[in-house]
Amino acid sequence: MSTAILWLRQDLRLTDNPALNACCELADKIWIVYIDDPARTTVFAPGSASRVWLHHSLQSLEQSLAQRGQTLSCFKGDSEEILSSLVGASGAKIVCWNRCYDPVSRACDTKIKLALSELTEVKSFNGSLFVEPWEACKDDGSPYRVFTPFYRRVATRFPVSPPQPAPRKLPQAPASKELACAAELAPTVTIDELGLLPEKEWHLPMMEHWSVGEPAANRQLDLFLAQSVADYADGRNLPATAGTSRLSPHLHFGEIGPRQILHQLLLNSGGQPQPKSGVEIYCKEIIWREFAYQLLYHFPEMIDAPLDKRFARFPWPPVDDNTLYRWQRGRTGVPIIDAGMRELWHTGWMHNRVRMIVASYLIKNLLIPWQCGENWFRDTLVDADLASNAMGWQWCAGSGADAAPYFRVFNPVLQGEKFDKNGSYVRQWVPELMDIDNKFLHKPWELPADARAALDYPEPMVDLKMSRQRALAAFDSIKAPAVP
Ligand code: FAD
Repeated sequence: MSTAILWLRQDLRLTDNPALNACCELADKIWIVYIDDPARTTVFAPGSASRVWLHHSLQSLEQSLAQRGQTLSCFKGDSEEILSSLVGASGAKIVCWNRCYDPVSRACDTKIKLALSELTEVKSFNGSLFVEPWEACKDDGSPYRVFTPFYRRVATRFPVSPPQPAPRKLPQAPASKELACAAELAPTVTIDELGLLPEKEWHLPMMEHWSVGEPAANRQLDLFLAQSVADYADGRNLPATAGTSRLSPHLHFGEIGPRQILHQLLLNSGGQPQPKSGVEIYCKEIIWREFAYQLLYHFPEMIDAPLDKRFARFPWPPVDDNTLYRWQRGRTGVPIIDAGMRELWHTGWMHNRVRMIVASYLIKNLLIPWQCGENWFRDTLVDADLASNAMGWQWCAGSGADAAPYFRVFNPVLQGEKFDKNGSYVRQWVPELMDIDNKFLHKPWELPADARAALDYPEPMVDLKMSRQRALAAFDSIKAPAVP
């Protein structure tokens, strides 16, 4: 009898999970393990909303495993010590995991692989990406910094082969003797004991917006493909409608993988997206995620430093905590900004169009460094993802790869009037403005004085025009190429 250890991280699913499939092929017993390792997360600790999602995702996985006669063993502590103890107790002939690509995980994984290789065989796989960061480089081997050629290169891999189905039967968990022996060295904890949920139950209303876990991710994909992908070209820009897939947290935790999505997406179009169709545009969004991972892998400093080095000299004024707080809590006095920030606070998610608007407003109108926004998103988004978050913020700041030019300052009034024409989104999240005429909804400061005075809604923190000029002047000061 041989045992394999499957170490799960951001791959909390049974379908198309290469590390799981390898364990099933190579051993007749599998020890399925999740480790909450504080060392791994000291620098980029998952935020409060992500931890709540993780709790539910682990519970869902535990249920799916139980239906197949398997269990999930959870541990808290140092990954290397725990895995070494488990190998010692079980005599496992192999340890398998799916790769992570952020700098901290990569450094930890390399160290763990080296240590475990003294004891047993170790294999890692690609369970999170369609193409790994080193697989879609330019002909000279350097990474792409512009999305369109990156997409073209990735698209040469279409059609996408069918994903591996979930194993119908799983090999058993190790015998209780081995488990007991390991427990002496590395005690297991329950999912509750991982302590992912907050003491104060702020998360309960947030989670009413979500179904977590692999089955929910698959249902969500089916629903999106049946109802929304055809109109995605327009629908994806309208925050009041369910025009996007809302798969981002499922993708982040690996409840579904991009290969599964792309395969299913392209099934009805002969394996290739029709140019300019909703399918093609959605395909590109999935590949934007791949682009973010590619950037993170090749430029790990992008997490907190500008990719365009000129921005290291940007003359940010000192951060005013009260201004930042009002942005975070949706009390800026600009309706579309406040709607977005409140949507985030209540649901752990914000529509992509609105993410761009609130980010531009924070960085350019309030002149607050993008890292402050990135931090807040990381704590409050259920889909918080180092790669996509840093890329999104740097894109808005103008300092990233293939970013919006700095001088493109989103006008939140025009954006609101264009993408939330009848105001449903603002009215949903800013009920103080429920009865305001559409003409004033996105700029209540223009209401007649008596109507304005009757509103329980703040005056705008900054004048949009003046703050835009101030941002452009600050940008002028760094325009010259950086001295190498
Ligand atoms: P859909 O429109 O249905 O897109 C499908 C999938 O494609 C998404 O789930 C996501 O995985 C991927 N995708 C779509 N747009 C992007 C994009 N611009 N960049 C990278 N991947 C994309 N996305 C995250 O997953 N985590 C983050 O922490 C994150 N932070 C962001 C911060 C800012 C400032 C901005 C502007 C964007 C950020 N995004 C982030 C990207 C994007 O907003 C979300 O992926 C998207 O809103 C998720 O909703 P959805 O699943 O309905 O997207």
